[in-house]
Amino acid sequence: MNRVYNFNPGPATLPLDVLKEVQAEFLDFDETGMSIVEVSHRAKPYEKVHNQAKADILELMNLGDDYEVLFIQGGASLQFAMIPMNFASKDKLGSYAVTGIFARNAYKEAVNLGVAKLAASTEDENFARVPCQNELKVDSNSAYLHICMNNTIYGTEYHYIPEVEVPLFADMSSDMLSRPLDFKKFSLIYAGVQKNLGPAGVVIVVAKKSLIEKSLDSLPTMLRYDTFYNKNSLYNTPPTFSIYVVGKVAQWIKNNGGLKVMAQRNLKKAQLLYNVIDESDGFYKGHAQEDSRSLMNVTFRLPNEELEKKFVAEALANNISGVKGHRLVGGMRASIYNAMPIEGAEVLAEFMKKFQRKNKG
Ligand SMILES: *Cc1c(COP(=O)(O)O)cnc(C)c1O
Repeated sequence: MNRVYNFNPGPATLPLDVLKEVQAEFLDFDETGMSIVEVSHRAKPYEKVHNQAKADILELMNLGDDYEVLFIQGGASLQFAMIPMNFASKDKLGSYAVTGIFARNAYKEAVNLGVAKLAASTEDENFARVPCQNELKVDSNSAYLHICMNNTIYGTEYHYIPEVEVPLFADMSSDMLSRPLDFKKFSLIYAGVQKNLGPAGVVIVVAKKSLIEKSLDSLPTMLRYDTFYNKNSLYNTPPTFSIYVVGKVAQWIKNNGGLKVMAQRNLKKAQLLYNVIDESDGFYKGHAQEDSRSLMNVTFRLPNEELEKKFVAEALANNISGVKGHRLVGGMRASIYNAMPIEGAEVLAEFMKKFQRKNKG
């Protein structure tokens, strides 16, 4: 077996310890004589997993019982629609900061429903940064301000929490549980887990209970937050395997020092790569402006596309996988989520230096 350093953006690398644990108990979970994927979602052994995962997520986020954790399917992309359907109206628009492709997709869903207002956009700067506080134009009558905390494709991230008079909503799909934040400043946070927290199949929504305990009666059952809230996310069959692995990843984060230690490690990995970019005399060009640089997705270009192709191929020969950028923006992207060991970033940094020496022309 040869496990590579997996820099894919999502589905993405998971902690090896977690994968081994899953493997070890896959055929007989908790002495049930069944695999976790064969256990009923109504049975005690699963319920324990479900509730423990919820509790651990709240604990890691330092949130109390005025918040609820929901497990919903349909990806982060369904949240783009559920949010305006549940919370915005023609009289109370949803405000959006458009900072990348996912942020724009979220905005578009609200536009389609006729309930959107643009608070800020960095599109004409090719999404190379996030807006600063005084660029956010949020009407005080807005239902919420929606931001995308980490822009996975462009490699930018907010390094402050916007101060707004209206409820703050955030897509944290690609930086959820990567650093400590004052999560109480948010009314609703959601994350597709396949970036930083588990296998594809579930979205974690963490929201103020007061916001989600009653939804509009006109909405279909599965598009209402109160369906999930009132039934402990067990109204219908949840994606039990994804939730089980997310629970294990949350435990792994707790056992490894919590969000503070994750943040230190993530900063170290990011610095290793950004330093190579900054010291490359322009051979590597970072996409993100310095004050918006993501600690999760490091995006950069090489002098030409031919070298970029060569970079991807030679990287793979060096056990470095998944560094090709998004098809819409090109270039390179190294995703260095919680589960990427520091050693992985060191190996990539060394490879980048060597590649430059051999190819600077
Ligand atoms: C990947 C991603 C999405 C889309 O997630 P799906 O679960 O595929 O719908 C949304 N937002 C961000 C920030 C992402 O990185």
